[in-house]
Amino acid sequence: MGRLGGKIALITGGNSGIGLATAKRFVDEGAYVFITGRREAELNAAVKEIGANVTGVQGDVANLGDLDRLFAQIKQEKGKLDIIFGNAGITPMTAGTTPITPLGTITEENYDSLFNVNVKGLLFSIQNALPLLSDGGSIILNASIVASKGFANWSVYSATKASVRSFARSWASDLKDRRIRVNALSPGYIDTTPWQSSDVAEVRANIEASGSVPLGRFGTADEVAKVVVFLASDDSSYVTGTELFVDGGVAQI
Ligand code: NDP
Repeated sequence: MGRLGGKIALITGGNSGIGLATAKRFVDEGAYVFITGRREAELNAAVKEIGANVTGVQGDVANLGDLDRLFAQIKQEKGKLDIIFGNAGITPMTAGTTPITPLGTITEENYDSLFNVNVKGLLFSIQNALPLLSDGGSIILNASIVASKGFANWSVYSATKASVRSFARSWASDLKDRRIRVNALSPGYIDTTPWQSSDVAEVRANIEASGSVPLGRFGTADEVAKVVVFLASDDSSYVTGTELFVDGGVAQI
């Protein structure tokens, strides 16, 4: 029996990157995992890759009807949840815009796309799951180092992640009577799809050359996943409301 034996977990945005790596770790630790994502083909491929003890449910976290369908399915198939990793999110790169959005060039569309997924989608994917979530459960919210940094040109994305970090604090209080722990996880530069686009090759090269990462490299999705397992498991039984950085030290210098 692993550290998550018998637990039922939901990972929003589990068909690639950090979410997929975490789903694999959760299953290895004995959990049954529901993963979501908008892209059905990627979702099916992820389910196949994980292999067992996993169900993929296609849907958009920013669409409340999709969330209703998701929770109805989990209720019918498993009757409860013990762990929720609110991971689905988009970056300026995945939002189809450029990461370079200095104040003065931000559009309404840019703002809406980022806030709809990263804030509204996260809020309702946690709130609407609460009736299914066991007392004593664990919620992990994927924020980012940008929540506490002042990187030029990244203000809208950073503000979405500052909201995520703030939710962890408030919800840890809101849910204390049910002994549900809520923590934020703040990755630094992690080598997943958004950073693999040629559009950001120059930005990435500049980061790598700048020496701004004390550990000297981008992190891997699995290095983040291992920390999510810690926050999901009883190993972190006295940890709530906090923010755990998985960033090679970037946010500390
Ligand atoms: P990926 O692009 O690989 O993963 C994003 C995941 O979110 C995909 O599974 C995607 O699936 C899903 N997703 C996006 N929008 C929605 C939506 N509206 N509804 C449901 N699912 C959605 O990148 P990462 O793994 O890097 O990103 C995961 C999280 O980590 C994000 O919240 C990101 O902000 C955060 N993060 C990443 C960092 C990094 O350097 N990589 C650093 C700090 C934080 P689909 O497209 O099929 O919907």
